[in-house]
Order: sequence, then C-alpha cells, then structure tokens
Amino acid sequence: MTVEARPMSHWSSVDRPPLVIAGPCSAESEEQVLETAARLAPLRVHYLRAGIWKARTRPDSFEGIGAPALKWLVRAGAEHGMRTATEVAHAHHVEAALEAGVDLLWIGARTTVNPFSVQELANALRGCTVPVFVKNPTAPDFGLWMGAFERVAAAGIRDLGAIHRGVSVADSAPFRNAPMWSLVLELRRELPDLPLLCDPSHICGRRDLLETVAQRAMDLGLDGLMLESHRDPDKAWSDAAQQVTPERLGGILSKLEVRSNAEDPVFTASVEGLREEIDALDQKLVELLVERLGVVDRIADLKQARHVTPFQLDRWRQLLVNRLAHGERLGLRADYVQAVFDTVHEESLRRQSERMAEDQSSTT
Ligand code: PEP
Ligand code: MN
Repeated sequence: MTVEARPMSHWSSVDRPPLVIAGPCSAESEEQVLETAARLAPLRVHYLRAGIWKARTRPDSFEGIGAPALKWLVRAGAEHGMRTATEVAHAHHVEAALEAGVDLLWIGARTTVNPFSVQELANALRGCTVPVFVKNPTAPDFGLWMGAFERVAAAGIRDLGAIHRGVSVADSAPFRNAPMWSLVLELRRELPDLPLLCDPSHICGRRDLLETVAQRAMDLGLDGLMLESHRDPDKAWSDAAQQVTPERLGGILSKLEVRSNAEDPVFTASVEGLREEIDALDQKLVELLVERLGVVDRIADLKQARHVTPFQLDRWRQLLVNRLAHGERLGLRADYVQAVFDTVHEESLRRQSERMAEDQSSTT
C-alpha cells in the first residue's frame, strides 16, 4: 500500500530544521504545565508537548490526569506562543484532543505494536487536518511501523510524521530503549519525504546521554527532535531520570550542529546504510579470524604430539597458490591477497609456536 507523505514544509512554518517538540512527559497540574511552557517559550520550541493519558508499564504508576488536563496544555500553548502536541491511544482521546484544539497528535510506541489499536485510531482520525506522528513500535519491527503509516494514510491523513524512540531489546545498555538507526534509515529510504524526528528522551532514559543522541540524529539528517522537559525534573511524576529543565534543554539545543550534508537525507541514509553493512561484514571477518585461529590451535596440538615443527614450507606454498588463484577468479589483486595471507599465516605460526612452547614448559 502506498503512503503519500508530504514534506514538513507543507504544514509547518519551521524555517530550518530541527523541528522541536518539547515539554513534560506528563501534565501534572495547570501550574506545572504553565510554568514549564513559560520557561520553554524563549527557546526554539515549536510544539509544547504534555502526556495527558499515560500508557504505563505497571498499573501502580501515575497514568495521567486525563481529559481535564487538555485545557491546561492548550492554554499554556496559547499564552506562550507555541502549538501543542499530545499522545492519543484510543478513539475517545482523539475526539477529546481535537475538540480541545490540540495542534498535533502522536501515536505512542506501545500503541504502534497493536494493529487493532492503530486501526481504531486511524478510523477516529478520518477527516482530521492536524499532523499525526507515529512512534516506532517498542519491538524492533519495521513492518509494524510501516503498517501504522499505511493505516493512518488510508484514513486520508496527509500530514504524517515519524518519531524514533528506540526499541526494547535484551541488552539496551546504556540506553533505556536502544536506538536502531537502521530502522530509521529504512524508513527514510521507503518514504523519503516523511518528516522524521528522534526522541532522545525515551531512547536514553537518562539526562547525560541526551546531547549525544540528539546530535547523532542531526548527523543522520533527521528533521527534528522530541525532548521531555519539566520545571523540576527530579520531582516529575513520570520519567523523572530522563527529563531536563527548560534551561538545560536550551543548552542542548544551542550546542546542536546541524551540518549541511544532512540536507540530502536520501544521500545520508544511503551512506549510513552501507556503513552498517560494512560494520556487519567486518564483524564477521573478525569472527572468522578467531575461528581460524581455533583450528590452528588444534593443528598445533597434533604437531606437538608428533614433534612436528610449526612451519611446513610445502603446505604454505600450496596454500598461497590456492588462495591467490581463488582471489584472482573473484577479481582480487594478487598482491592484496598475498599481503592478507602473509599476515594471517604469520599470526598462525606465532600462535602455534607459542602454544607448543607453553605445552613444553608445562610438561617439563
Ligand atoms: C511519551 O512520549 O511520553 C511516551 C510514553 O513515549 P513512548 O511512546 O515513546 O514510550
Ligand atoms: Mn515519557
């Protein structure tokens, strides 16, 4: 199914990237939303965010104020010259948020994983004209993310956007949700015009990593950032460890370098995708070298038992002729193959001698 995503310039007056969505994880009180907004207003923040309904992992956590907090968000945005944004997870959230006048809606990571929920939201969004952003699902599943865009686009929504917030994986350290840039770049290749944001707050889960992840997102040519900011982060009712004061957020934003090569997102995405392929191949290469040395060790043990020397000229000559011929057939230059195998062979000999010497000293 095709997704016709319009570039951000169609609906946003943001003069230059990044588009910035910032505000507290959750709206806690009218005062808290208003004060945070007042302190965010002098920064380069385009949309004021606040979670109204919170999808929490555990039921005993704060689950959001709910609909009554919508008017705090809308009032704070109006008083401080920012548009507003919130997360929707049910049809009745969509109705309430649109009715209150929220300017941008997003579908959260815990909702994107469920096609039933996404379809319910898409039906509720039909005919709506505000931009709708979709966060990647918590699982590292590109199909689910694309499926959500297809469902929302099929409901007639043209102003779509994506937010990368990391994925749940067993070993995400040091992050809360590991960034998966390959997923982001795949989306960039599939839908080059789709505005693509990064949410360093939910990726990092802690303040000290935010700047690095935000800069990485800019280096990859992403169009904007969603960052959580609270007037008193340590006292936040949700996601305290990852929130920063508006002033600290200002510091992060002012240090960001938005480089010019990020202006061609398809180029950046292609180069980055190829680099990931190289990284994976190099990893395999290293693993193969380790595996090869394992076999060398076994040969050393056999030679040791028979009192055979590590170096056998005939075997080495034959090996080299064989490798050079194979390399040549596959288009590799002979001197390149020779240099690689000289190094490989040298290490094999060193390893065999070392192992044999060790054995000898342990038996004497
Ligand atoms: C949020 O933005 O507050 C949120 C809950 O994010 P996510 O859906 O990425 O977990
Ligand atoms: Mn949060």
